Amino acid sequence: MVDSYKHKGMRQKLVNSIRSKGISDEGVLSAINKIPRHLFLDSSFLEFAYNDKPFPIGSGQTISQPYTVAVQSELLKIKKGTKVLEIGTGSGYQACVLEEMGAKVFSVERQKKLFVKTRDFLKKIGYQAKVFYGDGNKGLKAFAPFDRIVITAAAPEIAEALLDQLKPGGIMVVPFGSGRIQSMIRITKQADGEIIKEYFGDFSFVPLLKDKAND
Ligand code: SAH
Repeated sequence: MVDSYKHKGMRQKLVNSIRSKGISDEGVLSAINKIPRHLFLDSSFLEFAYNDKPFPIGSGQTISQPYTVAVQSELLKIKKGTKVLEIGTGSGYQACVLEEMGAKVFSVERQKKLFVKTRDFLKKIGYQAKVFYGDGNKGLKAFAPFDRIVITAAAPEIAEALLDQLKPGGIMVVPFGSGRIQSMIRITKQADGEIIKEYFGDFSFVPLLKDKAND
């Protein structure tokens, strides 16, 4: 589990590139600067780990593009102690970025193999994020309500259960749509329960599926 000067140098370049694409939240940028993304990939080829690109992580899934992780993290407006529910743990990278920003992270993954692998990996590298195996559309009732909810897969609809588990004043960030391209939407739940939606550009995610998968 080596993190060399070369890795650190490449990370700094990645951060510069993400900053130049418009990310200004210093908490996001310093988290990306700190986390050894190459450890989240099966193959640690540097050019893959620190390019601003998504990458396959097994079980037919991908680790999101760093810029996309940065956009979602910035839209969430994380402060120290913010309680976040992530749907789609994947490699665990997004969860670690949020944790570095001060969030208390709960994350749900529907693929059993990926869930076990990532849960064990996060523990090994010293992150506290709590990872669960299940269908994220149902949220995590036992730990609700949440200050923030982030969906890291393309959602064709927004499950009522998730809106219910969002605190009044809370924010949910979701790539919304069923086609190849989705709209990044920020949903703010007002104190009176009213929902405000804002649009932040087009992105492409793997689909949010229904139910658990035992593979
Ligand atoms: N946040 C991840 C990237 C996730 S890719 C990272 O930082 O690496 C999307 C993930 O969502 C995949 O791992 C996929 O298995 C998972 N997923 C898809 N549908 C789901 C559902 N209904 N509940 C929970 N996870 C789901």
